[in-house]
Amino acid sequence: MADTNLRLVWVYPDLLSTYGDQGNALVVERRAQQRGLAVERIDVRSDQAIPTSADIYLIGGGEDRPQRLAAERLRRDGGLNRAVDNGAIIFSVCAGYQIMGHEFVNDLGEREAGLGLLDVTSGRGGAERCVGDVLGDIDSRLGLPQLTGFENHQGVTQLGPTAQPLARVRFGHGNGTGDGTEGAWNDTVFGTYMHGPVLARNPLIADLLIKFALDVNALPAVDDRWYEALRAERIAAATQPA
Ligand code: GLN
Repeated sequence: MADTNLRLVWVYPDLLSTYGDQGNALVVERRAQQRGLAVERIDVRSDQAIPTSADIYLIGGGEDRPQRLAAERLRRDGGLNRAVDNGAIIFSVCAGYQIMGHEFVNDLGEREAGLGLLDVTSGRGGAERCVGDVLGDIDSRLGLPQLTGFENHQGVTQLGPTAQPLARVRFGHGNGTGDGTEGAWNDTVFGTYMHGPVLARNPLIADLLIKFALDVNALPAVDDRWYEALRAERIAAATQPA
């Protein structure tokens, strides 16, 4: 596409796309198009090479075995690390988030290397999975309203000194270490445990990714009434559990 303004990569839809996470790609694509941007969306299956010159890379969640396969292929490919060196933005969810860190525990119970793009380390949680609606306050430097999402994970994630918590939870587990943090970010790499899909529930995060990619401070306003109704419903679900 000669006049593309935004190149968006959806990483490994065949392995990492649980709980509707592919919706994140639809939301970024749609919100960019609403601003008159020409978007090239590239869905990269796990037997294909990761392009290294795109603007935004989205990675979803997955069960433990696909997570291990995805990590192996992403390490071998090396494209995401090169893309970040080129200034790309990465937004990763759950299994994808764990893979962005230094290591996680795989389906065989072994410690498996991640890509080291975020200063986080994941291990196995206790007997209880972290499942349910979540509400949190996003790092104020990002200028975003409260985070709403749905979590379903066994792994727990510890932040190292150079990773910032994406949010502090009011309800739910988030990183699951008991320190009240949820997700992590550093510079242009973001990770979260939130499904939903999270960008449908938090469209201003999608706008933030687009702003980072275009290197602009603001985008034209769009009609967010539908999103606001969804957010209100899910925030109520998080704060008034049945
Ligand atoms: N397999 C990982 C865990 O249970 C991630 C799950 C997910 O992506 N929903 O922690």
